[in-house]
Amino acid sequence: MSGLDPETVMQFLFALRKRGVTDARVLEAMEQVDRGRFVTGLFADRAYEDMPLPISCGQTISQPSVVGLMTQALDVRPRDTVLEIGTGSGYQAAILSKLARRVYTVERHRRLVSETGKLFADLGLTNITAMLSDGSFGLPEQAPFDRIIVTAAAEDPPGPLLAQLKIGGIMVLPVGQSDTVQQLIKVTRTEAGLDYEELTSVRFVPLLEGLGKDEA
Ligand code: SAH
Repeated sequence: MSGLDPETVMQFLFALRKRGVTDARVLEAMEQVDRGRFVTGLFADRAYEDMPLPISCGQTISQPSVVGLMTQALDVRPRDTVLEIGTGSGYQAAILSKLARRVYTVERHRRLVSETGKLFADLGLTNITAMLSDGSFGLPEQAPFDRIIVTAAAEDPPGPLLAQLKIGGIMVLPVGQSDTVQQLIKVTRTEAGLDYEELTSVRFVPLLEGLGKDEA
């Protein structure tokens, strides 16, 4: 956010801290990525407010504090390979790219994959690979992953994603019915099995099957 006026940046970071985003590395990553590059059109001037906003294909860019809390819960280490399901605007992937060695992000809308691919190249984020696919099945050819983040809500954690998590790996995802409040959960794979922790209430668009029609 280096080109922005300092007051805007300070308020943006203050809103994150107020909502519980306190991890210094996460705050630093979020300070590096200008959210204004990921919001276009009518809502561009609201990019630095702590709210979700509409993007193309009828989808949304998540609220910055939710991005911060999810990233913080994911506890990304510098050598990690991370899988994100639901690229959307690409904002969450861009933040992960500052913290991880490599980020794979998959999206079911072709238009979002091509738009974000161009944006990542433009921003010099060369450690992100954006792909078109139904993320419910994960990315078997690159598995297993150190970290998995799902930014669309499923009723339960998808089995293929659990199977693609390394031992010691962490997955953060919203679960619950799509039209109600969902729970953000953190799943840790241990030698003995899976540990589940509930973090907070959130609201995400649903994790849908198959590829999008791209009519939007
Ligand atoms: N992480 C995004 C927010 C994404 S909104 C950001 O930072 O902006 C959720 C996204 O998940 C939408 O773009 C939606 O198209 C996508 N999605 C929903 N179901 C999916 C699936 N099965 N596979 C891949 N992407 C999916």
